[in-house]
Amino acid sequence: MKSPWWMKGVPFACQPNCGKCCDEPGGIVYLTTSDARRISNHLGMEVEEWLERDCRKTLDGRFILESRKSDDVCIYLNDSKQCDIYQVRPQQCAAFPWWSENLSTDRSWNEVKQTCPGLTADDAILVEGDKIRIQIFSDRQATKGFRKWSEPN
Ligand code: SF4
Repeated sequence: MKSPWWMKGVPFACQPNCGKCCDEPGGIVYLTTSDARRISNHLGMEVEEWLERDCRKTLDGRFILESRKSDDVCIYLNDSKQCDIYQVRPQQCAAFPWWSENLSTDRSWNEVKQTCPGLTADDAILVEGDKIRIQIFSDRQATKGFRKWSEPN
């Protein structure tokens, strides 16, 4: 079977104070149980308390990050266009721009290239195909989400 085009590697370097990928009204960030545990722990909250305060549910019941009422952008994107929880950000955010939906067609990839300056930056370095594959898998896993929180036994 033919390898996908990105297997030969793609140049990328996330740009400081950019935040363009987060600064999109209507964006949906699905969460894994690990995300919920890691982020709530970082904020010094119980998971249930954090889910109640900073998350909501999709129509099919998966937990997603809450958006600001004023502009429908992620609640964690601050005025400096930085993520307030960057060190513990959700799996799906960390996997950007290597989402299946971005890589699936020339058209979608070209749109991402226009949005994300990290893909055309002078300081971009080659991200190997195997690393991209791991991020694609990570995004797919995250998109499955979860609907109910219960502490592991
Ligand atoms: S749009 Fe690209 S360069 Fe900008 S913050 Fe997102 S990943 Fe980084």
